[in-house]
Amino acid sequence: QNNCWTGVNERTLVAVKPDGVQRRLVGEIMRRFENRGFKLVALKLVQASEDLLRKHYWDLRSKPFFRGLMSYMSEGPMVVMVWEGLDVIKTARNMLGENNPADSLPGTIRGDFCVEVGRNVIHGSDSVESAEKEISLWFGQNELHCWVHNSRPWIYN
Ligand code: UDP
Ligand code: MG
Repeated sequence: QNNCWTGVNERTLVAVKPDGVQRRLVGEIMRRFENRGFKLVALKLVQASEDLLRKHYWDLRSKPFFRGLMSYMSEGPMVVMVWEGLDVIKTARNMLGENNPADSLPGTIRGDFCVEVGRNVIHGSDSVESAEKEISLWFGQNELHCWVHNSRPWIYN
């Protein structure tokens, strides 16, 4: 039984990009999502294929930075995960900071750990539609785990 979606409950795809993995930020980033109270439902280390990346960033295919983005995301393995919880899509984006690290407040992941848009260490889905698309792109149904969050009653009233 993998499907535990309910009304306000959401899932989002978060990926530590190759620079984040190289810079050993995986533990720190995961800790922030755990501490916030979200539930981890999927996790893996992957070297993304060009085909997968093209699908993932399909909306950006005509942007001038697209080629550079493809090669950036291919430079090493990424840690890809799915987090679940109340309004997690928007909250995760707030935790990430702005697209450009220079505009990201201290306290956000990009605001704390990077300086340039072409090395901005992390990805997070930006809407319900893209979260659904991205989760199904990166994970099979049997990789999404449904389990009871023991501290749930202390995180949700
Ligand atoms: N990007 C870039 N140059 C730009 C804009 C974006 O290199 O001018 C890269 C950057 O790594 C960014 C990714 O392309 O994270 C996807 O862009 P998007 O606008 O979706 O930003 P995000 O959703 O990651 O904040
Ligand atoms: Mg985006």
